[in-house]
Amino acid sequence: MVDDRLRTPGAVRDAERFTAHNYHPLPVVITSAEGAWLTDVDGRRYLDCLAGYSALNFGHRHPGLIAAAHAQLDRLTLTSRAFIHDQFADFCRELAELCGKDLVLPMNTGAEAVETGIKVARKWGYQVKGVPAGQANIVVAEGNFHGRTTTIVSFSTDEDARADFGPYTPGFTVVPYGDLDALAAAIDENTVAVLLEPIQGEQGVVVPPEGYLPGVRRVCTERNVLLVADEIQSGLGRTGTTFACEHEGVVPDMYLLGKALGGGIVPVSAVAANADVLGVLKPGQHGSTFGGNPLACAVATEVVRLLATGEFQRRSAELGERLHAGLQSLVGKGLVAVRGRGLWAGLDIDPTLMTGRQACERLMERGVLAKDTHGSTLRLAPPLVITAEEIDHAVAQLAAVLAG
Ligand SMILES: *Cc1c(COP(=O)(O)O)cnc(C)c1O
Repeated sequence: MVDDRLRTPGAVRDAERFTAHNYHPLPVVITSAEGAWLTDVDGRRYLDCLAGYSALNFGHRHPGLIAAAHAQLDRLTLTSRAFIHDQFADFCRELAELCGKDLVLPMNTGAEAVETGIKVARKWGYQVKGVPAGQANIVVAEGNFHGRTTTIVSFSTDEDARADFGPYTPGFTVVPYGDLDALAAAIDENTVAVLLEPIQGEQGVVVPPEGYLPGVRRVCTERNVLLVADEIQSGLGRTGTTFACEHEGVVPDMYLLGKALGGGIVPVSAVAANADVLGVLKPGQHGSTFGGNPLACAVATEVVRLLATGEFQRRSAELGERLHAGLQSLVGKGLVAVRGRGLWAGLDIDPTLMTGRQACERLMERGVLAKDTHGSTLRLAPPLVITAEEIDHAVAQLAAVLAG
């Protein structure tokens, strides 16, 4: 008889053996999941406090999303954009309405949405703003995370993400995040866009100072520069509103969306903007074989409908208060600081106690899965279907870990 307890070490070893080591996963091997809970190959259950970096905002296998995927799998999965399929128009219209924009452009991964945003902003710069050929620049923030393509890592300030991947794409100016004067000073006559995360997720759920985003909006409008909000992780309910920009009443010129848009089932990303911006693209100038495919559209339309009810935003706002109150009570008891909005928190652990990685390993032993980022920072982003009791449970496990 096989000892079930031996399955995890064997599966961990096999998983490492034939893959590039570009990740350092926790030694847990998941086999099924539902809602906010994961089950591993040994039958142990874990509360998911990462939610696929917010790709699983609606929880694992949300019944409505799974039903939409099943129904679509039985009818049509791919046409390419050479033909129109019957799921396309509804998705584009409903997502555009959710965003309050004229148009959307569907892609697959978040990085592709960012690349699309960069390309559209540059073309807009040359064709609408009148920037001389080849001179466009885009202002970005220190500590950014926008994805992993060669162009995107070119303006990363994380040496792990950037080093030895050059030569780097020119045309980006990096300024400190949260410093409006620095941003305004970096804008020149050839600046076509400011590209920002309204809250920096990978950096540790860093919320900019109040007034920063409205200030950026004002400067962008005054200087005829597009404000491009990367809401790939912060958007779609995570912070208690549909978009994190809403907390300060800011409307960007372009939304970049991804992660939760695919319902945790398929990669779906999109750019949303008005016709004066996205309208610069003409046939043949940009595209994707899989972007806007029928399966993606069927699932993502259901995602948009879930968001249109406002239920998940409300849950995130209400339960987020409970999460943050619980975490605040641990400041001074192993936590140095807590940041975030809604069901999204970055925690700085007292670095003399343990690293973020060690905290995650100990949480795992207590049946809670989370992810560290940058040394002693922990990020919590549970699915928005998590309950009040489950939040209390996660906080209690963290308290126990911090108490040693
Ligand atoms: C995850 C993420 C991306 C990249 O998305 P991928 O789907 O991994 O390419 C871009 N921007 C932000 C803010 C993200 O969190």
